[in-house]
Amino acid sequence: MEPLQIIAIDGPSGAGKSSTAKRIAEALHWDYLDTGAMYRATSLALLRAGLGLEDEAALMGALGNLRLEQKGTAIFLNGEDVSVAIRSPEITRFVTPVSADGRVRKVLVEQQQHIGRRGGFVVDGRDIGTVVFPGAALKIYLTASVEARAQRRFLEQQAKGIPMSLEEVAADIQRRDTADSTRAVAPLRQAQDAVLLDSSDMTLDEVVAQIVAMWRALG
Ligand code: C5P
Repeated sequence: MEPLQIIAIDGPSGAGKSSTAKRIAEALHWDYLDTGAMYRATSLALLRAGLGLEDEAALMGALGNLRLEQKGTAIFLNGEDVSVAIRSPEITRFVTPVSADGRVRKVLVEQQQHIGRRGGFVVDGRDIGTVVFPGAALKIYLTASVEARAQRRFLEQQAKGIPMSLEEVAADIQRRDTADSTRAVAPLRQAQDAVLLDSSDMTLDEVVAQIVAMWRALG
C-alpha cells in the first residue's frame, strides 16, 4: 500500500507542534489538522452542557451532536468560532480527563481519519503516528526540554493576554506530560518509525526546514 500523504507530528505539550505543523502545511500547500483543538472543542461542548464523563447516555448523545470543523487555523463548534475559547486555562485542565476517555477518542479518531483520508495534511497531536495515521508517509516525534517548552508557552500565553507565571506554565506542562503518557488509551509514545527531533536549541525556522527537507528527500 502507498504511504498516506500525511506528515504526522506527535510530541509533548509545548514542543512547538502546532506552529511547526502550520508552517509546513503552508510550505507544501497542504492543509493542517489540529487534533488537540478537536479535544479542546469537545471539552468546551461538554463543559457548556454541564456534562462530565459519568453519564454514559448523556455523553454519547453530546458526542453524537458534535459538529467540529476546521477552516484554516480556526476551529468551529456547531458553527461558532471557538478558537479563542478553547485555549482558556479551564479547558486546558478539563481536556486531560476528556482526552483520556476511550469513548471520546473513538469518535474523534474516526473524524480525524475521515478528514485526512485523501492525504495532503500535516496533522499534529499525541497519537497521530501510532493510532490515527499509522500509515503516514513521514512521522516526527517533536520534543524539547521542559524548560524550553515552558519558556515558549509562557511567552505565547503572555502575547495572548493569559495571566500565568512561568512556574505555573511549567507545572501545567509537567502535569500534562505525565497524564498524556501514562493514560491507558492511546498514550503519548514515539512511533517506532518516527524521527525524533529535539527542538530545545532550534529555532522554528530550523525545525520547519528540517522536516520539509525530510519530506522532499522521500521524493
Ligand atoms: O495539542 P493541545 O495541547 O492543544 O492538546 C490538548 C490536549 O488534548 C492535550 O493535552 C492532550 O491531552 C490531548 N490530545 C490527545 N490526543 C491528540 C491531541 C491532543 O490526547 N491527538
